[in-house]
Amino acid sequence: MKFIQREDWGAPATSPAAYLASAHGVKIHYLGAPYSSRAHGSCPAYVRGIRAEHLANTVENYVDIAYSAVVCEHGYVYEGRGAHKRTGANGNQDLNVRDYAVCALLGDSGLTKPPDAMLSGLRDAIEWLRQDGAAGSWIGGHRDGYATLCPGDPLYAWVEDGAPRPGGATEPAGGTYTVRAGDTLAAIARRLDVSWPDLASANGIRAPYTIHPGQALKIPAGGIGGTPPPFPGTGAFVLGRSNPAVTVLDGGLIRHGFTRHHDGNGYQPGPVFTTYTRDNVVDFQRSRPELAGDADGYPGPLTWQLLLS
Ligand SMILES: [Zn+2]
Ligand SMILES: [Zn+2]
Repeated sequence: MKFIQREDWGAPATSPAAYLASAHGVKIHYLGAPYSSRAHGSCPAYVRGIRAEHLANTVENYVDIAYSAVVCEHGYVYEGRGAHKRTGANGNQDLNVRDYAVCALLGDSGLTKPPDAMLSGLRDAIEWLRQDGAAGSWIGGHRDGYATLCPGDPLYAWVEDGAPRPGGATEPAGGTYTVRAGDTLAAIARRLDVSWPDLASANGIRAPYTIHPGQALKIPAGGIGGTPPPFPGTGAFVLGRSNPAVTVLDGGLIRHGFTRHHDGNGYQPGPVFTTYTRDNVVDFQRSRPELAGDADGYPGPLTWQLLLS
């Protein structure tokens, strides 16, 4: 995920917005104003402009940019109020407490059709809010339950399709396992030879990872057939943040010998996505013709597949 934290686009590090323990889901927005395609270099200034405009809005009395996140046409996710913060964008207090709000830099004239990179970024933002912000699985548009054209017909059509990742998401494949008394997720994962984070994510199981006897678990593609574990989503790879999938990624980098960037003690597997991890991923991507054109150090489904096969 190409994630730009608040302080990196010019907002104070933490939003003063109210705490939100969890959300029903994520609502997608657009600008609803003319917007023209632009070079990425001017995107951060545009996001700062949105925040300034919101702070100046005396009718709404916003304490911050209203959105949980903003996504540009180049697929970058700007942290807005962020995870576990109440949004101000959904139209009223009930709706703001119910769902997060992610805004695409997309207009009602000019740039009106979301490019694939933007859709990927929106998907990244949704997955990030699920993972870090306890968002539920619902995805809707601002117009759901509120009288507005937002997020515009082209983007809403994508929302109605279930907000698919362009190019096809990696779906877990292969059979189910029925939980027995005394099973733990880790024990089942060992038995099936898959990683437990993959098993949890394939089944939508979150901390504290409760399972119950009789429950049918989808078995993710993984160790059984020697195929790579399913791609965990780009939300697993955010600089400075921890995710079990990073340890799996590190295993692939080490097996393929891409370890020249490290902290001085050799490259060790671990859950934090560091600049060393990213730089080693860049080296791997540059070594593969099919990845070299987009060697940004952030694993997508193809990097993941090639690295772990
Ligand atoms: Zn909206
Ligand atoms: Zn951009």
